[in-house]
Amino acid sequence: METSNEEMAHPEERCHSDQRAFLSRVFDRLGLDRAARTLLTNSFREVTVQVPVRVQRGGRAVLETFEGYRVQHNHARGPFKGGLRFHPDVDIVEVRALAQLMTWKTSLVDIPFGGAKGGIAVDPGRLTGDELETLTKRFTQKLMPIIGPMRDIPAPDVNTSPQIMAWIFEEYSKTHDYAPAVVTGKPVELGGARGRLEATGHGVAFITALACRDRGLAVADARVAIQGFGNVGSHTARRLSELGARVVAISDVHGGVYRGDGLDVAAAIKHVAQTGRLQGLAGAEPIDNAQLLALPCDVLIPAALGGAINEDNEADVQASVVVEAANMPVTHGADDALGERGITVVPDILANAGGVIASYFEWVQDIQQLGWEESELLGRMEALLERAWAATVSAAGGGSGLRTSAYEIAVERVLHAIELRGF
Ligand code: NAD
Repeated sequence: METSNEEMAHPEERCHSDQRAFLSRVFDRLGLDRAARTLLTNSFREVTVQVPVRVQRGGRAVLETFEGYRVQHNHARGPFKGGLRFHPDVDIVEVRALAQLMTWKTSLVDIPFGGAKGGIAVDPGRLTGDELETLTKRFTQKLMPIIGPMRDIPAPDVNTSPQIMAWIFEEYSKTHDYAPAVVTGKPVELGGARGRLEATGHGVAFITALACRDRGLAVADARVAIQGFGNVGSHTARRLSELGARVVAISDVHGGVYRGDGLDVAAAIKHVAQTGRLQGLAGAEPIDNAQLLALPCDVLIPAALGGAINEDNEADVQASVVVEAANMPVTHGADDALGERGITVVPDILANAGGVIASYFEWVQDIQQLGWEESELLGRMEALLERAWAATVSAAGGGSGLRTSAYEIAVERVLHAIELRGF
């Protein structure tokens, strides 16, 4: 089958540069032709919307117009699923890449969803609570025709909280009756799942323990450094310290803290809740984000934004295991270099998949109007993660790295679903 995209040497040229490199390798290994590559890399639908809001600046109301996005990549295996990010750097290229990543993630852990992502280019720290509510609800109005419990189900990501999910639920329900399954990551009082908030970090810690085990290291003996102390980073740190690991360094956008004997993670979480940042944590030394990435430790966990470990700093990494808690935190060049140095890199689509698995369970509970106990959700989540881990490691036994084998499994499943359904 020939496509109309003749002018492109490789259909994956449209992708984000790192993802293009990861995908091209996998497509080549699977022997996919141009038609299959085009089908797998193009988005199903990309929407850009204008979100005007009157905001207070210097004591007077001014009109600001924000740009919002939703990209639906593929839904061969189920409704579109993926988070919403509120951050000044959000743009269509990043959202497109993250949407595609969700397709591979939901496929790898074998849950009945496709992939999507969205966001607004905004610094939510500059908005009042009322302005943020207006922004979220207007954005939801614009997305109304393309979201829904059986169509596309958003979730939290960077700077988007359960409160923001509650506003989306409310706005959607105004015209669609009671529909809690339109969005996941809601407050428990509104149909959120017990355990969803901590699920991504809990899953990262679970996968970290498996990766340590494969390197002959007990997680209880591991020294861990974590970049990013938001939802994912803080719950990863808390769970790893429960498992006995020594969390020696953590950081946020303002800088980091270090303690060689291990930080008191509960005290750090409390300190951030009180002050809004890690700086000034009692009993810890200040470090910066560059120093954190270069610390001598067993496990390094980037849990903030994309591109944190790149060609400029990968040589500084001293850990033997890097676990991608964030999405796309290791660039393609850095990934190859770390691999050559014998460092295990656990890819994002496996490492942080606990979040979307928990979202899937929230969606299931909302549809059935049932609430599970937290232990049931986390236990079922661990079972799915363990199965995906075993499949990935087994496929990687053939000589490919974890990322390549994870992508291969995911891509083959999506392609098979497309073939079964037809067009
Ligand atoms: P969050 O907004 O709760 O936290 C982000 C953290 O990163 C904050 O501590 C922030 O200060 C820090 N940070 C931001 N810029 C930084 C920088 N330049 N240097 C160091 N730290 C910086 O976001 P989150 O939900 O924890 O998401 C973090 C990452 O995990 C993102 O890549 C996201 O896509 C990914 N992720 C999140 C979920 C989820 O369920 N929330 C699921 C899967 C993947």
